[in-house]
Amino acid sequence: MSATRSQELFARACNVIPGGVNSPVRACRNVHCDPLFIASAQGAHLLTADGRNMIDFVGSWGPMLLGHAYPEVTLAVREAALRGTSYGAPCEDEVRLAEEVCAALPSVEMVRMVNSGTEATMSALRLARGVTGRDKVIKFIGGYHGHGDAFLASAGSGLATFSIPGTPGVPESTVRDTLLAPYNDLDSVRALFENNPGQVAALFVEPVAGNMGLLLPQPGFLQGLRDLCTLHGALLIFDEVITGFRLSYAGAQGRFDIMPDLTTFGKIIGGGLPVGAYGGRAAFMERIAPQGDVYQAGTLSGNPLAMAAGLATLSVLRHSDYSALERRVDAFVAELESILRGKGVPVQIPHIASMFTVYFTDAPLRDFSCVQAANTDLFESFYKQMREKNIFLAPSAFEANMVSFAHSDEDFEAALDAARSVCF
Ligand SMILES: *Cc1c(COP(=O)(O)O)cnc(C)c1O
Repeated sequence: MSATRSQELFARACNVIPGGVNSPVRACRNVHCDPLFIASAQGAHLLTADGRNMIDFVGSWGPMLLGHAYPEVTLAVREAALRGTSYGAPCEDEVRLAEEVCAALPSVEMVRMVNSGTEATMSALRLARGVTGRDKVIKFIGGYHGHGDAFLASAGSGLATFSIPGTPGVPESTVRDTLLAPYNDLDSVRALFENNPGQVAALFVEPVAGNMGLLLPQPGFLQGLRDLCTLHGALLIFDEVITGFRLSYAGAQGRFDIMPDLTTFGKIIGGGLPVGAYGGRAAFMERIAPQGDVYQAGTLSGNPLAMAAGLATLSVLRHSDYSALERRVDAFVAELESILRGKGVPVQIPHIASMFTVYFTDAPLRDFSCVQAANTDLFESFYKQMREKNIFLAPSAFEANMVSFAHSDEDFEAALDAARSVCF
């Protein structure tokens, strides 16, 4: 059989790009497939380099809540590009996007734009350390906060997928300050605070875990974290790089009604262009240079194309009906679960707003260790058969799938039809 265009491109890529990809999970290694190269995307559909039209449930891992090539966003980027692609001096759209983010989230009084979610979390950690004069940070096992050194201890899907318990290249001294607790386990967090009195600068949490697959916070968990951080003088940092503007226009914090001290953003606020941001209480944010003494900078930060794409995206989302989308996702997921259960496999599909993960297990899902017990052979088989039927799912048993406002009833029906034909 002759190679497909995707296979040809992947072979070339492997010669000049490590693993043939610019971000590990795209390589599809954990489902033992080669990646499909994408030629273009529109709405909820991807056109592969092989000419296949696929229904996209990855959504670029989060940014594409409006769907691909959304007309207002595309137009905003084109118009911005005509005015120049980077100035190295402030522009109006940075102010407008910052105002929009501050208006959307009551906990965010000031915000600093950066270029990726990774940069946002690294910078927020530096700020928390600067503000508190403490070094330690608490994160959850399986939680992912980008690839900053301090966060690369038990860091979720990207690493879990490859069974690397951390990564070479991160000094032990860096990770020594990173304290780990199981997600949804307040007692462990309390113990960490008590065993490290006056030493914890911040607690980072994905308020809804999206990088060990999707896991929901149990009732009281987030409020419990808020209370513990307040009690111990540590900053509560919500990593809303996925959940920001997805769980609601006010993010997970709006949905669960919790006020973190700092919040990190990325993905949706760039409308598909490279962006991140971190923000929060002015008293903390004012410590950032040049207003304060905590240094953080970026040549391309507040980039006019990214700001234009983010503004256009948010201006549509502000008036979008999140509940209507969630009801459609609820119905889709219920039917998908019933179809798969009908095939005699153990399955659970946690979901919230426009995110879901298919776990092949009957065990209760509470933290990363539960998730890791799910059957990855069944997942691989499911993934491959769905892909054969042109359904583009996240290529790992430990990732969240993303639905967009562009998914039509026909798209959902086509995905369900594909699932009906799956054999285990
Ligand atoms: C994607 C992600 C990041 C990292 O963002 P990048 O833009 O990939 O650097 C950080 N935190 C969470 C929760 C994410 O999902």
